Amino acid sequence: MSKPHPNGTNPSLSVDKDGIGWITFNDSGRKVNVLTEGVMTSLGELLDDVRGLVKQDRLRALVLWSGKSGFIAGADIAVIEAIFDPVAGAEASRSGQAVFGLLSKIGVPSIAAVHGICLGGGTEMALACSHRVASDSPTTQMGFPEVLLGILPAWGGTSRLSRLVGLGVSLDMLLTGRRVSASRARRIGLVDEVFPADLFREKAAAFAMERADDVVSAAGCRLPLLKRLIDGTRFGRGIVLSVSRRRVQTQTDGHYPAPLKILEVLRRAVGQPLSTALEIEAEAAGELVASSVSKNLIHVFRLREEARKGKAIGDRTVQPGGVEYLGVVGAGVMGGGIAQLAAHRGINVRMKDIRQEAISSGLKHASRIFDNLVLRKKLRRRQAVQSMSLITGGVDYEGFGRLDLVVEAVVEKMAIKRIVLRETEEAVGRHCVLATNTSSLSVDEMASSLSRPESFVGLHFFNPVHRMPLVEVVRGARSSDHAIATAYAFALSLGKVPVVTADGPGFLVNRILGPYINEAGFLLADGARVDAIDNAAKRFGMPVGPLRLVDEVGIDVSQHAGQELYEALGSRLSPAPPLVALAESGRLGKKAGVGFYRYEGEKEKGIDPDIYAVLSRTVPDDRVVMDEHEIQIRLVLAMVNEAARALDADIVQRSSDVDLAMIMGTGFPPFRGGPLRFADAIHLRVVLHHLEELEGRYGARFAPADGICRLAHGDHSFYQSFAG
Ligand code: NAD
Repeated sequence: MSKPHPNGTNPSLSVDKDGIGWITFNDSGRKVNVLTEGVMTSLGELLDDVRGLVKQDRLRALVLWSGKSGFIAGADIAVIEAIFDPVAGAEASRSGQAVFGLLSKIGVPSIAAVHGICLGGGTEMALACSHRVASDSPTTQMGFPEVLLGILPAWGGTSRLSRLVGLGVSLDMLLTGRRVSASRARRIGLVDEVFPADLFREKAAAFAMERADDVVSAAGCRLPLLKRLIDGTRFGRGIVLSVSRRRVQTQTDGHYPAPLKILEVLRRAVGQPLSTALEIEAEAAGELVASSVSKNLIHVFRLREEARKGKAIGDRTVQPGGVEYLGVVGAGVMGGGIAQLAAHRGINVRMKDIRQEAISSGLKHASRIFDNLVLRKKLRRRQAVQSMSLITGGVDYEGFGRLDLVVEAVVEKMAIKRIVLRETEEAVGRHCVLATNTSSLSVDEMASSLSRPESFVGLHFFNPVHRMPLVEVVRGARSSDHAIATAYAFALSLGKVPVVTADGPGFLVNRILGPYINEAGFLLADGARVDAIDNAAKRFGMPVGPLRLVDEVGIDVSQHAGQELYEALGSRLSPAPPLVALAESGRLGKKAGVGFYRYEGEKEKGIDPDIYAVLSRTVPDDRVVMDEHEIQIRLVLAMVNEAARALDADIVQRSSDVDLAMIMGTGFPPFRGGPLRFADAIHLRVVLHHLEELEGRYGARFAPADGICRLAHGDHSFYQSFAG
């Protein structure tokens, strides 16, 4: 082989004895390869060298591959984050396109040899090659996550993908960010061949040799006839695009510009010469990159990454204990759900309840979730059976001696929890961490009944456990760093997003949700319609409105949580009379078929026509038309105000913890970046002004939190002041 390229070591070029050039990506400073500005510049220079070698007949084919376990994880997000001007955004796209343009016209067959993760810019680079091969490793995945960051692939990816695999498949990949495995990539025509991972380099070399000296033309249309009939006519394309557009509109309510832009780019670019298509792509990317939605989505991406790395757990040198054997005490809705999730991840689970029937129903609950996964083709039957076999249960503490972690999920009663925890502590070994799944009781009060309070934490899962991404890891006053690190690592191992909070009423998420839901009750009292309230929240971007949420959670559960917050936090959380009236009516919400809405099983059947009669004297006789903006302000600022109080009370130290928890725990719209980023964006002086006005109109529950007054007067933002 010849020497590596002198202009830098990443990427590097070498030419083997058969005249095959190997461009190797191997960033020594990072765990994964990223297409930074520096890497792209070096790649451009290398490709110039390759062109020279091709002209001298010294290079017969080119292979692009990685010296790491993954191929290329994508472009450098920091660069995207730093662009605020659409013109600069378009220019950045053109620069990337130019480098991949060189690759696409290199004059000899070029082969992307993809082993491991290949995302975004990595897949765009592969598309600029004349051929693509992939390893059959389960880690090999290709995709375009750009849409999830509010942008589109703009180094030629959008244009080249549709030419190679057709419009339908492209839309699926580009609009969802979904990754494809090597075998699926082969089926859809994204790669030409799949080779065994252990022979990958040899096979890729042989593939290159077979094609060496072939004359290559720019990637032409290789679509099968049916796809060509659809993609090749304006009519066919029009149908596919309009169906997708309708779907996007329904799913996003128009809040996310990137998928709509992708559809527009494809509408305008498919069928055009590549150069025209690339220009359309670049201009669209410029607009998206500079948008606040993209900035917010990147912000959320970063928060999730930080959570994954455990930035919030304080002392990161503390080694968490591994959890191979989990105990779950209380085999109800939450216990069954936690057991299922853990078993799904290969953890042995021992459930304990006071009744054998409860164990049976906990097992059934877990089994139903597995069945559903099998039905939706997310899991093979054999794997489901295997995972289920990891869960056992009984009415005694048999087997508790070997457990690494126990999650208590019995009824929400302090006296019972204290007894159960004490019993559990006696049954487990000294290394075992104990956790409570309480949603409203004090972790410290429970800890006071234990002889090893340092091994005790809160681990607050949300319902349904298998779907809700957030877990609050509650640090009691005496919880040790080791116990916190163990619970945190356990939550991560279940695929959850953990946020560490202090012990306090409602911890973080329920505390902030309390005033929001209560305000929905006050809106009813002021004459707003159920649909006006829920639609306003949804148009703000919430996944469901607050009243529908009450039905989902259970009217009894919600009333209980509201009451607890009121008792702990005082009169600003005094329950809204319509919510009290509803709870007193005995309605339970979705689980019993009627609440604000009517339900048949899982299906919502519209607002219950009798609802205002049920709320009776707590609402006026006639509904009033209320401005949607007014409803949104009341709901959202109720949350922001409480979040400011939670920060001042040290429930969490960082604004980003609030935002991540609210996005992952309640579905607060990610495109707004979280309640505090939203508040910062409109400026805290404006927030303060609105709160003062609302206080004047509706009373002390809107009295601005001290934190907001302080920050607004000092012209500070949440993110400046609570950076952690
Ligand atoms: P559940 O009523 O469905 O289940 C409770 C289980 O605990 C029952 O099977 C009961 O038999 C069992 N139990 C009662 N006393 C026991 C004892 N002494 N020893 C062993 N088992 C005993 O309740 P759930 O909804 O699963 O809630 C459990 C916990 O999770 C509560 O603390 C609740 O606040 C919390 N939580 C619930 C939700 C939710 O939406 N359901 C969400 C988050 C947290």
